[in-house]
Amino acid sequence: MNEIYVEKFGGASVNSAQAIKNVSSILLSEKKKRVVILSAMGKTTNNLETILNYFYKNSEIDYNTIEISKKYHKSIIKDIFLTENIFLENFIDKTYNKIIENLNSSIGKPYDMVYDNIVSFGELIGTTIISKYFDSINLKHKLVYANEIIRTDNSFRRAKIDWQETKENIINNIKPLFIDTDLILTQGFIGGTQKKEKTTLGREGSDFSAAIFAYCLDAKNLIIWKDVSGLLNADPKYFENTEKFEEVPYSEAIELAYYGASIIHPKTIKPLENKSIPLYIKSFLSPKEPGTKIDCCSYTKPLMPSYIFKDNQTLLSIFPKDFSFIVEENIANMFALFARYGIKINLMQNSAISYSVCFDTIPSDLLKKLINDLSSIYSIKYNNNLRLITIRRYHEEAINNLIKDKAIIIEQRSRLTAQFLVKL
Ligand code: ASP
Ligand code: MG
Repeated sequence: MNEIYVEKFGGASVNSAQAIKNVSSILLSEKKKRVVILSAMGKTTNNLETILNYFYKNSEIDYNTIEISKKYHKSIIKDIFLTENIFLENFIDKTYNKIIENLNSSIGKPYDMVYDNIVSFGELIGTTIISKYFDSINLKHKLVYANEIIRTDNSFRRAKIDWQETKENIINNIKPLFIDTDLILTQGFIGGTQKKEKTTLGREGSDFSAAIFAYCLDAKNLIIWKDVSGLLNADPKYFENTEKFEEVPYSEAIELAYYGASIIHPKTIKPLENKSIPLYIKSFLSPKEPGTKIDCCSYTKPLMPSYIFKDNQTLLSIFPKDFSFIVEENIANMFALFARYGIKINLMQNSAISYSVCFDTIPSDLLKKLINDLSSIYSIKYNNNLRLITIRRYHEEAINNLIKDKAIIIEQRSRLTAQFLVKL
């Protein structure tokens, strides 16, 4: 069998009729056997989250956001087909009715489980529209449902992959489809349990989905299509002058993703590295440009510094009430609690009588509960609205430029990485 390639198009690459046409022209420009992983269109996932959270707060359907999301999809359908498409319009109505029905019958079910059920509709709607569009332009393909292929456990919202079963599903059910077609379409971000419940792999998880397919298919390479030219040394949202990496080793890409370079989901790299599958980050706006290649390269010239900002950080400082030292036992208990609250720790620091931990801000009611749980043994102080600045491969000048005039709360440096938690 010919080589198989995997490509992933994120929400921004399918957010309008024109964007979807651009995707199809990228696919048509080169003939190869591909699995294409698609995210939900534009801001659909955020809208579905809003609809779900409104229901949990008010026990009522958020018809306003439902209407916005429905209209958005219908306008894409109209723009792309230029004529009425009764099938897809009905499909949209039916799907949103199903969302309402599922919300109304979700009472008493765990939030995270309902989350995965509702939010995964975004990817399912998007791929159905795109598949119908591909039919209309005779782009031959097969649409498959990732929740039937990517097998996970039932840790909803952060489902863990059952690699054995997923691999079997991909080898037995996906690979043979290439006998009849060159193109297989599927959804990123979603998986399914043994009991056929839908799960998700965490926000922005479709990169990871693509890596799972690439790994299980021994793909020749994986391309992640973005609206930037490749992996940059800083986020253009914050920096005027950014530079693109030509080639980066897996090990460095993992570090950058971990520190918050939002271009790739941190879990994406490891499966690729294990099989030495190169990852290309390319711009869907200039598909002929080489982008960035991530592979096992050993670099000879030093890599340039990277600047990574992580906003919406909370710093929690914990002091034992009896002024006893922070002993291992205390720390073990605290970590168990953090894990229970799904807290993502980005930095920590301890002294003899205090322990400070910085993490992605969680909803205020959850933070209150956490503080409450800790307060029986510890005194707690906390700070919100902080920014964690990471400079990878730093030099003094880079640091000085970036943090002058900033109120630094915590500073940490290792040989390659300097981190500063600052007030905004
Ligand atoms: N649609 C999902 C999200 O926005 C998954 C993804 O885009 O990777 O988080
Ligand atoms: Mg998305």
